[in-house]
Amino acid sequence: MFQRPSIDPAVTGSIDVARHDRPSWQRVLQDAVRDIDELAGLLEIPAARLRAVACEPGFPLLVPRGFVARMRKGDLDDPLLLQVLPRAEEDVRAAGFSDDPLGEQDIADDGVIRKYRGRTLLIASGACPVHCRYCFRREFPYSGQLASRHGWEGAIGKLRGRGDIGEVILSGGDPLSVSNRGLQTLFDALDTIDSVRSIRIHTRFPVMIPERVDTGLLALLGRSSARIVVVVHCNHANELDDSVEAALRELAGPADLLLNQSVLLRGVNDDAATLANLSRRLFDCGVLPYYLNALDPVTGTAHFEVVDERARALLADLRAELPGYLVPKLVREIPGASSKMPL
Ligand code: SF4
Repeated sequence: MFQRPSIDPAVTGSIDVARHDRPSWQRVLQDAVRDIDELAGLLEIPAARLRAVACEPGFPLLVPRGFVARMRKGDLDDPLLLQVLPRAEEDVRAAGFSDDPLGEQDIADDGVIRKYRGRTLLIASGACPVHCRYCFRREFPYSGQLASRHGWEGAIGKLRGRGDIGEVILSGGDPLSVSNRGLQTLFDALDTIDSVRSIRIHTRFPVMIPERVDTGLLALLGRSSARIVVVVHCNHANELDDSVEAALRELAGPADLLLNQSVLLRGVNDDAATLANLSRRLFDCGVLPYYLNALDPVTGTAHFEVVDERARALLADLRAELPGYLVPKLVREIPGASSKMPL
């Protein structure tokens, strides 16, 4: 059963300072849509029609209003809606799909996951700005695996004990669910570990709730002595409206590198024109495409699967269409492998 909080109570602390012209990100998150009938109303779809295709899973509906506003009205097949609407297909049990497709639950230790040489992943938070239906950690047992517990002490102790960690990858949930104060505590601690040269932040917040890119976050990223790499998560060009573009442009100030990773999702972005548009729109926003991930086979997501042959054909079309720097790497994560594997 899914038990993630919307905001991480362990580390959110005080409300981060909002700019005078927009609400705090916490308020935007608290105001997110959690009810199918309300979503139907906002999208001008009869509630009965939306309910007919929906289900009531343990991993509930959560979508910020700003993201809903980017969806096409009246369209049940809108690519943004498909990413967030719990659909009846999630109840289908498919062979090869499991609750822990990457085998992470056995290797996580105090919120620290060591999969790759020289890099370590921290589960910074179990909370997210949205519940993506295809999320590979939708069944992850966050309550016992949060690096942010007790002021990050356990996780930092594990990193300090090793001299070979060059990069710390903040993951989750979404690490930007942690307040600026909580992040500052973490960054200060990481600054004291000599081997850590870069901090990578995997986040969907700037796309989902651009208000998260506030002055406090920009300042703390700018103060870090480590190189900052931000990998946002966007699957379709329609996700990137003017407010998101503005947030990404601001993030590009303190960030040394701004990248995007997508998941290849049937019905959402599994055609070459859609993927090419996404790459071009990311470039407009100052972001380079990094990974196009094959779906991780987590329970309830088989309806999103794109077969490998089709994925490779799409990539070939992208190579023909785009300059090389706008073509993402098509990869799959394989449990136990030392890096993501090219498909
Ligand atoms: S994909 Fe990322 S933002 Fe979406 S539910 Fe999973 S961890 Fe949260």
